[in-house]
Order: sequence, then structure tokens, then C-alpha cells
Amino acid sequence: MECNNCEAPKRKIYGPHKKRPNKDLEEADIGNWVMLLRCPKCEKLWVSVPYEPYASFEYLILWDFTKEDWRMIHDLDNASTIHEWHGQSVKDLWSTLPDNERESVLSHRKRSYGRNPIDIPQNNEKIDINSLIKKINYD
Ligand SMILES: [Zn+2]
Repeated sequence: MECNNCEAPKRKIYGPHKKRPNKDLEEADIGNWVMLLRCPKCEKLWVSVPYEPYASFEYLILWDFTKEDWRMIHDLDNASTIHEWHGQSVKDLWSTLPDNERESVLSHRKRSYGRNPIDIPQNNEKIDINSLIKKINYD
């Protein structure tokens, strides 16, 4: 069943908007250029990162883990792993957006002259949050 507020778990990404998508989401935690949001209806968590230019293109990615997991991974390296994962997820998921939201992704790609998570070449290994959490918990 899909949440009638944030549309999780069917939806896993929100594309860039001038304002945050018109959904009722509350702040759960704040990190280094990254925010964790919570849907008050279904309790699902969303990770928000603002991208250039002017940090004005915010993308949300569904966080399928706990708030504590998010804080733990954030604090590993002052959010660089979270940022890397977020960029990879945007790249993987943006094509699943509805047409009008895909258009705002395209205009972001144009505005940013390639400096966006979709067009920057990503040679790094895919970040697997699930195994990362397990590894930290068992170490
Ligand atoms: Zn929801």
C-alpha cells in the first residue's frame, strides 16, 4: 500500500523543485548539507540534499532504514558516504519520476552544466547502506 501523503514505498525519489514538494514532511534530523525528513502519516524517512547551482535543487530519496542508522552513517565521515549514496540514488532513480518532474530534472541538468549527480561520472563503488549498517553493528 502506498502512503497517501509521501507515496512511499512506491515512490522512492522526489525531483528538484523551487520549493519542497507539496507534501507534509517534518524534520527528523539535520546534518552536513543534508536533512532527514519524516512523513507524519507513514513514518517513512526521506533524505534531502540540495544540489548546485546555489544549492537550490533539492532531491529527496527514500531512506529505508532507521533514524539512528542515518545518524550513525552520517557521523562516520561527516556525511560524505550519505552524499555519495544520495547522488548514486538520484542517478539510478530519476528516470522513474513522473513526466513533469523529469522535466525539472532536465532543466536542472541544463542549469548546472553537468555539475549534478546524473552527469558527473561516478567511478566509485556502489554504496550499499544495508551491508554498511550490518558491518558497523557487527564490528
Ligand atoms: Zn508517507
